[in-house]
Amino acid sequence: MKRTVFAVALNHRSQTAAWADAFRQPPYNTPPKTPVWFIKPRNTHRGPDDEIGLPAGVQTFSGATLAVVIGKTARKVAVDAAASFIAGYALANELSLAETHFYRPAIQAKCRDGFCPLGTMAPLSEVDGLTIVTQVNGVEKQRWSTADLHRNAAQLIATLSDFATLQAGDVILLGTPLERIAIAAGDTVTISAAGLPSLSNHFSADERVVEQPDGVPTLFALGLNYADHATELDFKAPQEPLVFIKAANTLTGNNRVSVRPDNVEYMHYEAELVVVIGKTARNVSREQALAYVRGYTVCNDYAVRDYLENYYRPNLRVKSRDTLTPMLESVVPRENIADVQNLQLKTVVNGELRQSGNTRDMVFDVPFLVSWLSQFITLQAGDMIATGTPKGLSDVQPGDEVVVEVEGVGRLINHIVSEQQFEERLK
Ligand code: CA
Repeated sequence: MKRTVFAVALNHRSQTAAWADAFRQPPYNTPPKTPVWFIKPRNTHRGPDDEIGLPAGVQTFSGATLAVVIGKTARKVAVDAAASFIAGYALANELSLAETHFYRPAIQAKCRDGFCPLGTMAPLSEVDGLTIVTQVNGVEKQRWSTADLHRNAAQLIATLSDFATLQAGDVILLGTPLERIAIAAGDTVTISAAGLPSLSNHFSADERVVEQPDGVPTLFALGLNYADHATELDFKAPQEPLVFIKAANTLTGNNRVSVRPDNVEYMHYEAELVVVIGKTARNVSREQALAYVRGYTVCNDYAVRDYLENYYRPNLRVKSRDTLTPMLESVVPRENIADVQNLQLKTVVNGELRQSGNTRDMVFDVPFLVSWLSQFITLQAGDMIATGTPKGLSDVQPGDEVVVEVEGVGRLINHIVSEQQFEERLK
């Protein structure tokens, strides 16, 4: 499995029951209307029988779940057609630190090295009443049934593929109950279910670097990383980086089209400098950080604000839609950029300057971001960090030409099309 691992939060009845009252209070105010998606990036992936190093000084929890493995390209699949897009199922462990909120992307809790071992896939025809058992050191600790999930595999494939094209080998983790199992160094966790190869991993205190060079490079993105933009959205600048992950489906190239969904009020561009990692980085200092950067490129991190809900904000439906992250393929070597914290950015729509700023106004600068991520994630060559956008957002419409430029790094041209125009292009 060398594709994207999607996961869904709050899909088990015990979770939504326990959080029901909190979800009627700020900052949520209302329960989620659509599935709450997140990504388990390549640094989290491990195989059956791999030893996994636990982070020091924090409590890690095991979260046994079922993974559905996609068998062929799936785009806008209906629920009753979803079964034919499934290659099989596997057991998985969606490891996490304690979940204290569902408001901001929980990458520090959920995306640490080794936090997503996946078992061997097998075909299964009926999984809607599957019992999943967790044993720690041979003693049963938990038993739950997929009958208690809100949405089953077919429903999740339908809702995800509505905006994200899935590829063969992509995986969806179906969710976990509220109860998680505390684990410690020295434990062996075995997850089993009828008809599937069991998944057994030994956990140690040895948090060594494990590279996953065949995995999909991780695209990190920063929210509210320019103070003027945070003010524009009525937010205070965050106290620590607000990082979310975008899946590969959203990427497109230069001179390509991006789709504005029908019946939305507000879709805006975001001009961003992108950092491209050049070599494996773990626990690097701020002073050393730039030595791990290969170079820089440019992206336009479009967002559809109509779809913003307060759950792992921003959800993939807002930020990881097909075609909504145009990026230049070329990477300008780090050595060619004298000062990455003094570059002009701008967005020009139909010849009119709409957005401008300078990378000196980043809340968290490039060396800080590389160092901070590397404290809990092994960054690898090809991973990317989209570093956020300055103020000056505005709506774009089908027919618009949107040009994003970062001084000395590149100029990215993109054209907005309607859903209908895009479907005609696909024919
Ligand atoms: Ca952004």
